[in-house]
Amino acid sequence: MSDSYQKPEVGENQKQFRERPPKKIEVSVVIPLYNEEQSLMPLSLAIRDALDRMRSAYEVIFVDDGSTDNSLKVLREIHRKNRRYKFISFRRNYGKSAALSVGFRQAVGKIVVTMDADLQDDPNEIPRLIEKLETGYDLVNGWKKKRHDPISKTIPSKLFNFTTSLLTGIKLRDFNSGLKAYKREVIQDMKVYGEMHRFLPVLAHWAGYKVTEIPVTHHPRKFGKTKFGISRFWHGLLDLVTVLFTTRYSKRPLHFFGVLGLVTFLAGFIIDLEIVIEKLVGQTAISNRPLFIVGVLFIIVGIQFVSIGLLGEMITRTRPEEEYVIKEKVFN
Ligand code: UDP
Ligand code: MG
Repeated sequence: MSDSYQKPEVGENQKQFRERPPKKIEVSVVIPLYNEEQSLMPLSLAIRDALDRMRSAYEVIFVDDGSTDNSLKVLREIHRKNRRYKFISFRRNYGKSAALSVGFRQAVGKIVVTMDADLQDDPNEIPRLIEKLETGYDLVNGWKKKRHDPISKTIPSKLFNFTTSLLTGIKLRDFNSGLKAYKREVIQDMKVYGEMHRFLPVLAHWAGYKVTEIPVTHHPRKFGKTKFGISRFWHGLLDLVTVLFTTRYSKRPLHFFGVLGLVTFLAGFIIDLEIVIEKLVGQTAISNRPLFIVGVLFIIVGIQFVSIGLLGEMITRTRPEEEYVIKEKVFN
């Protein structure tokens, strides 16, 4: 501390304290954005209207994912007017997952809410999400029951949600919704990278957290355009495989490959057995049965799958056990 520092008058300080007790931030709103200059100002006003009614101290963290328009300028302006609105700006575009991940690390609230910046998500839903969270959940997902998006997006999305729900065993109807509320500990040690933001409820569920969903209103995009093209579809499907592996099967790869391998092997075995029997009984030459080759192929592929599963098991055994999520630890 420098010498020129002047201690404030004690009385004055106390008075200030009484009038404005420092409030601990309870809710952090994290908003990833990429080129959304026109939406930011109306969005921040709408958030203020919605959250001021809630009476809990909050902060809003904008994460500018390398915008090339005037988004950063608008963010500076918003921050200048109201210090509750904070922002981080990437030098280049890293993707929504990266933006969320960095936002999560900065958030200090006991509850962390995420939403999109494009005015499609309604800030008035935030208090409802939090209310639901407080009835005993760790993650509340906003389900865009009535969506205002082009059909090129809603149909792949339906398929994606159906497949993800089926394969992960979680009954959600809108995994990829931007609007979600989390208890702090859920996101604390969650690794969000690549395009994993689509699977946050899955990761949370597999870590043992209670996940649920409520319907929320959704608006059509007013300004700008969507940042995800058709690539969202196959990226999503490939990521689903990754997620299944890192959650469901990471500790038991043989259960995945083994089942696949056994089914393939058996199919090949039965096909070929049939052909051999026909040869012995009916004297049909095997050289006239192209299906025989298919059977052989199935048998070989089946053995391959099982072997890959076994290799996976060996790798799993040599990996340190760091991926268990601990709820509580008493150790004295
Ligand atoms: N977004 C981002 N980085 C990106 C792409 C998108 O931060 O690389 C933000 C975007 O600005 C928006 C949110 O993620 O706030 C959702 O994007 P978008 O509205 O384009 O997705 P959609 O609603 O079409 O699924
Ligand atoms: Mg959108």
